Amino acid sequence: MKKFDVIVIGGGPMGLAASAELAKSGRSTLLLEQYQFLNQKGSSAGLSRQFRLQYAQKYMAQLALDAIPYWDELQENTSKLLIDNVGSLWFGDPEISSQEGGIQAAMKVMSELDIPYSKLTAGQIEEQFPFKNIPENYIGFFQKDGGIINLQATQEALYNICRNASNVDLCDRTAVTNIESLETGEIIVSTAGETYVSEKLVITPGAFINDILRFFGLSVNIDIWEMSSAYYRKKEEIKFPTWFVFQKPQNTSLFYGFPEEDWAHPGYIRVAPDIPDRIIQDPSQRTNIPSTKSLGFNEEWVKNHMEGLNPQSEFTSTCLITLSNNNKELLLDTLPDTIPNNRNIIIYSAGWAAKFIPLIGKIMAELALTGQTSYDISQFKIDYNTN
Ligand SMILES: Cc1cc2nc3c(=O)[nH]c(=O)nc-3n(C[C@H](O)[C@H](O)[C@H](O)COP(=O)(O)OP(=O)(O)OC[C@H]3O[C@@H](n4cnc5c(N)ncnc54)[C@H](O)[C@@H]3O)c2cc1C
Repeated sequence: MKKFDVIVIGGGPMGLAASAELAKSGRSTLLLEQYQFLNQKGSSAGLSRQFRLQYAQKYMAQLALDAIPYWDELQENTSKLLIDNVGSLWFGDPEISSQEGGIQAAMKVMSELDIPYSKLTAGQIEEQFPFKNIPENYIGFFQKDGGIINLQATQEALYNICRNASNVDLCDRTAVTNIESLETGEIIVSTAGETYVSEKLVITPGAFINDILRFFGLSVNIDIWEMSSAYYRKKEEIKFPTWFVFQKPQNTSLFYGFPEEDWAHPGYIRVAPDIPDRIIQDPSQRTNIPSTKSLGFNEEWVKNHMEGLNPQSEFTSTCLITLSNNNKELLLDTLPDTIPNNRNIIIYSAGWAAKFIPLIGKIMAELALTGQTSYDISQFKIDYNTN
C-alpha cells in the first residue's frame, strides 16, 4: 500500500485549494479525482462565479471578508486576473429574499460590519447601470468590492501550485471506490487499481457527497439543483457590474448576471436564472440539458430589462449545485464520533462557495494538520444520517 500523510478526495477547486495549502506544509499529499482536473461534470462547470460580501448573515459576510487575503495570495501565483472587482449590485423588491439572502437584511449586515455600500432607488439604478423598466418600488444597493471570479484561471492557478510541489501527487481519472477507517488510526482508501493509506483524509466530493459517505454507513440530506445559464450578445457598448435581482414570484423571477470579460465569450454577457431546472438527489440523475422553461424566463427578463443585449440566448450550459436542505450555507465538518479517527477526516460540500475557495482550502488543511482552525465554522456542522 502506498502511504501518504494526507489523502484528498475530489479534485474540484476545493480539493485543489486544500492540496495547494498542504503543499506548503511539506506533508506528502495525494489528490484523487474521478474525472479530469478542471472537469465540467460537477459544481465548477462554466467560466465565471460571483464574489460578493452581500449576505443576510453576518458570519457569511465575515467569511467573505476573511477570504480576501487568501485570494490576494493566490493572485501572486498567476498573471491572469482571478477576481475582477467590478462591484456587486443587488436590487429588486425589498420584501423578497432567496436562499442567498435578501436586500434589507444584507444592507443591515453591511452596516454592522462597516462594509461600504451605496443605497439606490429604482431611478438611480437605471441612471447608473444599463437596466431598463425597473419597477418604482424596487430598491438596490451597490457594493464596490464584489466582482467576477475567473473560475477556470482560479483552478489552473491551484492546479499549477500542486503540480509544481514535490510533495503533492495528482491523480486524475481515479475514482475512490472504498474507504475504511481502522481503530489502529490508519485510513485505507481504495481505487480500482491501487490501495492507499494515510492518517488524515480531506474529502471534497461536491454533489457526490453521499456516494462517499456511504463508505462510512452515513448520508446527509441535500438537494442537488441542476441549473441553466446562458450568454447574450451585446448590441451596444454597455458595462454591467455583477448583479442579482430579487422579484415576485420568487420561483420564476430571480436572476443574476455578470459583466463582459475577455476570458468568457467576449462580446457576450452572461445572465442566468437563480432557480433549479430540476432538483435531484444523485448526480447520475442529471440531464445535462438546459431547461427551455428556465431559459424562457431568462430571455423574458433580458428582453424587458436589458435592452443592450440580443434576447436570444447563446452558449447555454448546465451545472450542479449541492445545497443543504436544512438551510446551512455550507457543510464543513469532521465525521461523527461513531467513526474511528473521525477528527482526522474532514469533509466539505454544498453551498455557493466559489468566493471562499482559497479560504476553504486553508481551513481544511488546518483541520487536517492540527485538528483546529482559527475560523468559525460552527454554523456549517453536518447533521449526519446513519444508514
Ligand atoms: C450555476 C451555479 C452558479 C454558481 N454561482 C456561484 C457564485 O456566483 N458564487 C459562488 O461563490 N459560488 C457559486 N456557485 C457555487 C460554486 O461553483 C461551488 O461552490 C464550487 O464550484 C464547488 O467546488 P467543489 O470543488 O466543492 O465541487 P466540484 O467542482 O463539483 O468538485 C468535486 C470533485 O470531486 C470529484 N469526486 C467526487 N467523488 C469522487 C470520488 N469518489 N473519487 C474521486 N473524485 C471524486 C468530482 O469528480 C469533482 O471533480 C455556483 C454553482 C453553480 C452550479
